[in-house]
Amino acid sequence: MASVDTAHSAPAISNPDLSIDDMRGVFRAWLTDHASELERFRTLPTDVEEIFSGHGAALQKLLYDAGWIRLGWPADVGGIGGTIAHRALIGEELVLAGYPTPFSFATQEVMGPALARFGSPELRTEFVPRLLRGQESWCQGFSEPGAGSDLGSLRTKAVEQGDNWLISGEKVWTSWAQYASRCFVLARTGTQESAHRGITAFFVDMDTAGITRSPLRAITGQDDFSSLHFSNVVVPKSRVVGEVNGGWGVSMFILGCERGAAAWQRQAWMRWQLEQLVTQSPSLSDETIGEAFELISGLRLLARRTLRALSAGEELGVRPSFDKYLMSSAEKFLFDAALTSMPERLLMGDDQESADWRNDYLYSRASSIYGGAKEIQRNIIAERILGLPREK
Ligand SMILES: Cc1cc2nc3c(=O)[nH]c(=O)nc-3n(C[C@H](O)[C@H](O)[C@H](O)COP(=O)(O)OP(=O)(O)OC[C@H]3O[C@@H](n4cnc5c(N)ncnc54)[C@H](O)[C@@H]3O)c2cc1C
Repeated sequence: MASVDTAHSAPAISNPDLSIDDMRGVFRAWLTDHASELERFRTLPTDVEEIFSGHGAALQKLLYDAGWIRLGWPADVGGIGGTIAHRALIGEELVLAGYPTPFSFATQEVMGPALARFGSPELRTEFVPRLLRGQESWCQGFSEPGAGSDLGSLRTKAVEQGDNWLISGEKVWTSWAQYASRCFVLARTGTQESAHRGITAFFVDMDTAGITRSPLRAITGQDDFSSLHFSNVVVPKSRVVGEVNGGWGVSMFILGCERGAAAWQRQAWMRWQLEQLVTQSPSLSDETIGEAFELISGLRLLARRTLRALSAGEELGVRPSFDKYLMSSAEKFLFDAALTSMPERLLMGDDQESADWRNDYLYSRASSIYGGAKEIQRNIIAERILGLPREK
């Protein structure tokens, strides 16, 4: 049986129950005291490998060892008390202090909460601390060729065999799968007709025999995602997350976190990007700066509502569709502004900073696709929140 991780160092936080404002003050003081140690995190690499195995993992470990990343997580997964709102302020304060957070900060908010909530005690206690410490990363094996927006029609199949399940099928667009140690795989355990009612979520070790990863090169020039082939992959029954045939609830929870809680980290990053843009691009108009600020601030308020709901243990429902919708609007607006205000640099600059702008601009195009396409979010808002009639 997996044991509770005991490798946590003594946290810097003596009282995790401080008010949010007081905790902010304590964290700011810690940032000041550790400025020299943090200096190397003032720039944010866009190279994916560097984020996973260098910069991002190192920042995460530093914060984990000091206790900050453990705030707001349950004790059995390495947490030290406090609320989700406490843990959310860490990413934001880091950015405000000039240490932009890599996207791995957002991804830990996408899948970590799902394993903490739906995973068995053995899975939770063994794996969530590894994720939080930056020791390993996980990927999300949902989409398939022919099953993206229509996720309920997925065809990857899991067949019961003794103490195991045998998984076969294909996943696509699995972000950063080549760096991931585990994958949340959605597979069909019911009939094809059972649609979303016949899907189970599995927590699969990526080094299991029968899994082939084929990196896919994005327009950024980086291998941002992979396609995954599963050929009779043996997955122990202990790796089912939640109930058999209950994977839809797990996946909707993960997507809710991706559309909502992760949006909180993203808005902090966008604020930092906007500041960089204002400094580096004097031709930017006041109107554009104002509109970008308005969109990012709107996202901040929406994401804060989602965090509060998560903190209170409320069901998220479909409301994070608003967050996701605004997240992609804000991100696209911001990087459109970057392109318009410094086109030569963004398109042709060959220094690292220009390359980073270019990379972020290109990735911003995908913000209206990943986590559920914008049109789908519009449909959800229209039908399930506003109660408008479904299109016939
Ligand atoms: C950068 C990036 C990272 C990704 N990472 C992951 C990942 O880690 N894991 C993972 O599982 N997936 C990932 N995806 C896949 C992503 O979730 C899917 O691309 C997305 O859900 C859309 O599915 P699709 O590509 O099959 O497009 P389709 O579903 O075929 O949609 C094509 C177009 O038709 C529109 N459309 C479809 N149905 C409707 C409808 N009913 N009403 C109106 N419009 C509709 C869509 O909005 C879209 O514009 C990633 C995608 C990108 C771009």
